[in-house]
Amino acid sequence: MRSSIFSLCTLCMLCVFCILSCKRTENHVIITFDDANVDEWFAQRELFNNYNIKATFFITCPHKLTNEQIEKLKILVNDGHEIGCHGLNHVKATEENQYQYIEAEIIPALMILSDYGFTVTSFACPFGSATPYLDSMLTNYFSFIRKATYNIRDTLISTYPEIYTHKAQFCNTNAMGIDYNYNISMDNLEDALIKAKQTNTFLVLYAHVIDDSNEDYTISPQYLEELFKKMKKHRIGGETCRGVTGGIVK
Ligand SMILES: [Zn+2]
Repeated sequence: MRSSIFSLCTLCMLCVFCILSCKRTENHVIITFDDANVDEWFAQRELFNNYNIKATFFITCPHKLTNEQIEKLKILVNDGHEIGCHGLNHVKATEENQYQYIEAEIIPALMILSDYGFTVTSFACPFGSATPYLDSMLTNYFSFIRKATYNIRDTLISTYPEIYTHKAQFCNTNAMGIDYNYNISMDNLEDALIKAKQTNTFLVLYAHVIDDSNEDYTISPQYLEELFKKMKKHRIGGETCRGVTGGIVK
């Protein structure tokens, strides 16, 4: 009798465990936004919160932010989002400027963001690229470095291995552009989400302004919500860059 009760309890616990683990959401997407579109990002705060999606917002020209925009960014941080650095003046790194780049573009930007009260450990390269020398220097300031690509081959984005990254103390990864002008279908995105979950990796995405204009380098709230719905369908959550690395700079 006692052993059958024990077996029954074990079975019940197993069932509860299965139900909980089947329903658990795992983070497999890093959604990032670039430049200084703070007002447009903040306007979609409820959309992010409704789906419990955390994102990383990479700021360029931090010295041009208004006090109101700084307060909006602080609210976004309180919601669980991350603020990253996208350079002081959005200068493209080249072999010509790489030796001055840290002094000119990185240190002052980090100082301003720090003065505002933000802890910054992630960097998105302006125009999506850096040189090997600069890559090596950036590791002194950041634990996550994000490049940028787009669907150059006009195919399934899941076929770009460079836009998937793993949990690690340091990440230097590419990312796929999903702005309106990149014309990535929701089926294409869903296929890429499924691959991230199946391979236990993070799919890295980037966009710019969130609005309805359908202009280049914008993403509509409707498209974003469709993405969030697909993520919810597959029980996939959004991770910040710092969430992937732990945010410890060597
Ligand atoms: Zn940019």
